[in-house]
Amino acid sequence: MNKRLIWALAAAIAVCTLALIYVQLNWIFSIRQAEEDNFARKIQIILDNVVADIVEEEIRIAGAAEYKNRKLYDRSIDDRVNLEEVQFFLKKEFHKRDINISYEFGVTSERGEILFCSDGFENVSPEVTYVVKLFPHDPDDISQYSLNLYIPDQSGFIRQKIWILIIVSIILTLIITGTFTANLLIIFRQKRLSEIKNDFVNNMTHELKTPIATISLAAQMLSDPNIPNKEQKLPYLSGTILTESKRLQLLVEKVLQIAIFERGNLKLKYKEIDFSTLLNNIIGHFALQIERNHITFKTAINTPGTIVWADETHLTNVFTNLIDNAIKYRRSEDPAISISAENTEDSVIITIADNGIGISQDNLKKIFDKFYRVPTGNVHTVKGFGLGLSYVKKMVDMHRGTIKPESEPGVGTKFIVTLPVIKKN
Ligand code: ADP
Repeated sequence: MNKRLIWALAAAIAVCTLALIYVQLNWIFSIRQAEEDNFARKIQIILDNVVADIVEEEIRIAGAAEYKNRKLYDRSIDDRVNLEEVQFFLKKEFHKRDINISYEFGVTSERGEILFCSDGFENVSPEVTYVVKLFPHDPDDISQYSLNLYIPDQSGFIRQKIWILIIVSIILTLIITGTFTANLLIIFRQKRLSEIKNDFVNNMTHELKTPIATISLAAQMLSDPNIPNKEQKLPYLSGTILTESKRLQLLVEKVLQIAIFERGNLKLKYKEIDFSTLLNNIIGHFALQIERNHITFKTAINTPGTIVWADETHLTNVFTNLIDNAIKYRRSEDPAISISAENTEDSVIITIADNGIGISQDNLKKIFDKFYRVPTGNVHTVKGFGLGLSYVKKMVDMHRGTIKPESEPGVGTKFIVTLPVIKKN
């Protein structure tokens, strides 16, 4: 997929997510507003009912006739209503509507004096105040009284009602943004991987061309009757064919190694293997290369009779890769490699150490990654695909072993491999 398209999609999703968050916030705000209005309406009804209750009570005690005769409202306020009565009716009404919130109330005169009130009324700073006329049927020409209700924490009460909504919205938004980011990361990783794979195919094709060309040239020379002194050139040509076909073999081996990663269910053929024999055989194959490159080579294989449970081909590849790297990444002067193997209680520890170019600590963390090669600017003097060590790691893991790299640039590199042992002398 085209990078621009990915970014465009990402931007579209990001904009949509932001819009969604915006819409959600709006919803939450309007729901909150609706809840607030609803709550205020309920409180208003409560107060109206309380006032009606108080009037009703006054009439019940004094009688309707007196009420009509203006007798009732000519009395002082203390004769008409008291704190306990208001408290009782308020409690009843709040209870009836199942509203569980703390409130303070007070009865005030026209001039705003407090005539009586609940304990906290004067100290509380109310968020919302509700006021109703206490005796709505009193004529306008006599003193008027008001019932004031203070609610200290109305917004907290309403918030409590919509908090589930808010939390669910937050969680959903987080999930959406999380999965979206994860998706984007996956897309970019896949893209990088496919680029690397393309590179790999290009490199590999290039690498395969040279030995094929050399071999066909040698074969042409062998079959050409016009070339004189063919007998003299025979060892040289056959030698060339041999080395070049070996190179081809190695390349094919590498391609097989990458295929291993692609195949999910890799089955190893485990069997009992004499470890010293295996390791000495592998080392033997490198004799020529070691000699040709003037490498000081030391071995200390002290694992007689040690049997491991392993797949012979893959375990061979593991050590071949490590020794191959030790040779490939050698220093130009006085290169040296040492290989040691010894037993512990229930495992065998193999150390492959070189005094080569080394790897910096930052890069050391990535050397087991698929296709990773320590960057050396644009040109790699040493050929490779960055697959060897990721293959090695995978195989060591499958054999229930461990591999630990130690390295210092300019000083050398050491790989310490441990494998479980099933039998030893
Ligand atoms: P490659 O095909 O590039 O050799 P590997 O997976 O075998 O891939 O190694 C990954 C990288 O680790 C190499 O490109 C190289 O930079 C670094 N490396 C591996 N072994 C050694 C070593 N013995 N000394 C220095 N660098 C090494």
